[in-house]
Amino acid sequence: MTLPGERVVVRAPAKINLALRVGALEDDGYHDVVSVYQAVSVFEEVSATLPRDGVSGVTVSVRGTGAASTPLDSSNLAVRAALLLAERAGVPADVALSIRKTAPVAGGMGGGSADAAAALLACDLLWGTGATREELVEMGAELGADVPFALVGGTALGLGRGDRLTPVLGRGEFHWVLALADEGLSTPAVYRERDRLVAAGAPAEALDPDVPAPLAQALRAGDAAALGPALVNDLQAAACSLRPSLQRVLDLGRDHDALGGLVSGSGPTVAVLVRDRSAALELAVALTASGLASDVRRVTGPVHGARQVDPVPTSPFHPSNTPPTGPIDTIR
Ligand code: ATP
Repeated sequence: MTLPGERVVVRAPAKINLALRVGALEDDGYHDVVSVYQAVSVFEEVSATLPRDGVSGVTVSVRGTGAASTPLDSSNLAVRAALLLAERAGVPADVALSIRKTAPVAGGMGGGSADAAAALLACDLLWGTGATREELVEMGAELGADVPFALVGGTALGLGRGDRLTPVLGRGEFHWVLALADEGLSTPAVYRERDRLVAAGAPAEALDPDVPAPLAQALRAGDAAALGPALVNDLQAAACSLRPSLQRVLDLGRDHDALGGLVSGSGPTVAVLVRDRSAALELAVALTASGLASDVRRVTGPVHGARQVDPVPTSPFHPSNTPPTGPIDTIR
């Protein structure tokens, strides 16, 4: 049984898309996609605490990357996740959520989705609702297309809106350098730009609902040199059209003998694949010096999905304990 003040901490990974093929606009306003996700070592952390006696409802506070531009109301994906789980499980939605963000907001890395995944698992453990993995994944899909993947992690094929997942066989660890941008790109705006470019004559290919063959082979073999040329993103031209500096980041990667690179999801994060740790360091230095990125990260993938972790110490001097934004009024 959980007592007031008790805390559960869960970490969930952000993602990059190794492949993102975009099909026609469906009647529901969404595009069908074929997406190959890889979870990378950028973790969102959500801690869920049972409020003291007499306090009820959901509160949220946010610290870390992009905290100031993360919503603190019921549109916050972690809050929505807690409310949805409480409704489905028939328990009172009483929890104080504290989010430590590492992924950029609106960065094409599914950071908000990772917050939702982490909140689902954290609240499930805190409230003892005993949801199965499948039930959490189902609720995740209602919250957003990328949420199920943040629960599952690894490397996976996503169909439909990206939420019908199948794990992709693979081996080895890949090294990525991420170029982050200060200002996010709106996913709907990138899709609109893509539809405009397609209407203006860029070819619209029929969707093959499978992992593209060269990508599947490279992953099975754990062959980074083969993975580079197999990376593909149908939203890349649109993202670069809205944010031309992204192409310069990709060019810089090529000039530094990267194995490949692409805009992640709807951008503006660019993921550049490199041979090993030392190549990652070399490229990170060059990217930082170029001034083309607001932040440069060296990460690896694939990593695991949402998992409970030990709570971090609450010392005010711990780097993760910089002052949070929020909490705002209790959300019921
Ligand atoms: P996607 O590609 O799934 O749209 P993204 O990685 O580009 O994701 P996110 O950071 O996940 O972008 O968030 C997109 C939008 O969702 C933000 O503009 C923000 O207003 C809203 N949002 C809601 N909850 C959160 C959250 N916990 N963290 C970040 N953004 C959130």
